[in-house]
Amino acid sequence: MQNKNYVLFTKEMKKDYTILVPNMLPMHFKLIESVFRLHGFNFKVLETSGKKIADTGLRYTHNDACYPAVLVIGQFMDALLSGEYDTHKTALLMFQTGGGCRASNYVSLIRKALGRAGMEYVPVISFNFTGVEKHPGFRLTLPLMLELVYAVAYGDLLMNVLNQVRPYEKNPGEAEKKALEWTRRLAKELKGVKKKSYSSVKRNYDAIVKDFATIERTDEKKPRVGIVGEIFVKYSPLGNNDLERFLIREGAETVVPGLIDFCLYCIYNGIIDYKFYGRKRAKSYLSRFLYRFVCKKRDDISRALEKGGFRPQASFDSVVGSAGKLISHAVKMGEGWLLTAEMLELAEGGCSNIVCTQPFGCLPNHICGKGMMKPIRDIRPDVNIVAIDYDPGASRVNQENRLKLMLSNAKTAGEK
Ligand code: SF4
Repeated sequence: MQNKNYVLFTKEMKKDYTILVPNMLPMHFKLIESVFRLHGFNFKVLETSGKKIADTGLRYTHNDACYPAVLVIGQFMDALLSGEYDTHKTALLMFQTGGGCRASNYVSLIRKALGRAGMEYVPVISFNFTGVEKHPGFRLTLPLMLELVYAVAYGDLLMNVLNQVRPYEKNPGEAEKKALEWTRRLAKELKGVKKKSYSSVKRNYDAIVKDFATIERTDEKKPRVGIVGEIFVKYSPLGNNDLERFLIREGAETVVPGLIDFCLYCIYNGIIDYKFYGRKRAKSYLSRFLYRFVCKKRDDISRALEKGGFRPQASFDSVVGSAGKLISHAVKMGEGWLLTAEMLELAEGGCSNIVCTQPFGCLPNHICGKGMMKPIRDIRPDVNIVAIDYDPGASRVNQENRLKLMLSNAKTAGEK
């Protein structure tokens, strides 16, 4: 079925179509996949990687496109051309914020790539909360959305404890094994979480933290390295050449802000759009309510971490406040003010080595990331920020050498 602009994903398609989704955060997306499966969608998060993905992406889109778009298109086209999926029973799904950045055009770029490959009949679903596009077979119900919030919350908690334990474990692989086991277990428990009391979710938080606390650890002191930047290259091992693993191998502990923070950034923008851009007051009130609700969920994760002896995250209100020191909250293209705020928050939390990941040619994040390095250093001279560009032609050796230099400086300075 086709409306005048695009192929619709119909209710009939929901029954037997496979929906392919690009991977960004392995644990979070496993949980998100499970929520959709439990609601009758045949979701499949793609796990393909390697140089062939960027090469395939470049074959089907212009090399001017943002690097995350090249990778996402590459992953989709690689899957569709692999022969593994019946292309007449496959749809593609893309997460979108619906903001003013180029990401709002990713869906059009994917359709263009499909057209080039003669597969324009494949539906592309835009997952968004702004009503950019609607598909009759893809409805976001309240229970599904609530379960997605918990999927992201569990993912953030697991990522936090994993990052704090993995670099110090005495038996290599133990923390990752536990994270995998918990992901599998929680994936099954997410169905109908709204019917159960929220205290069952909080009990799971405590159990996760307690379980990770049992892992035997060395008492070494390693430099902590924060990872910030454009959302896809910050999180995706495909986008950042497995940055986290590289840093851990080189003797660092990685600190990565959670996915909930990005969601809260989008919600917070909904509050202030009224003030800065003359948007509807009603939307601002709704966003305020949502903001408080999600902040409470985030605070519960922090409480669980603290209770289990792990480093908690600063409140999101404090992240918002940090941004206000150097940049206007009206700056909201790409990661906008959040990127500057995350660097300041990491520094405040004692993590003064920061890798700012940026897709090559990503103007918004070059402004709020690389462009803000000097103002940040002016107020925090102790902060060591390295901006790393990622694109299909970037030399991995060059990226790694710069990271090694940063780590060596941190170790020399006795950074703990
Ligand atoms: S944030 Fe950067 S990479 Fe992402 S869509 Fe915007 S310009 Fe492209």
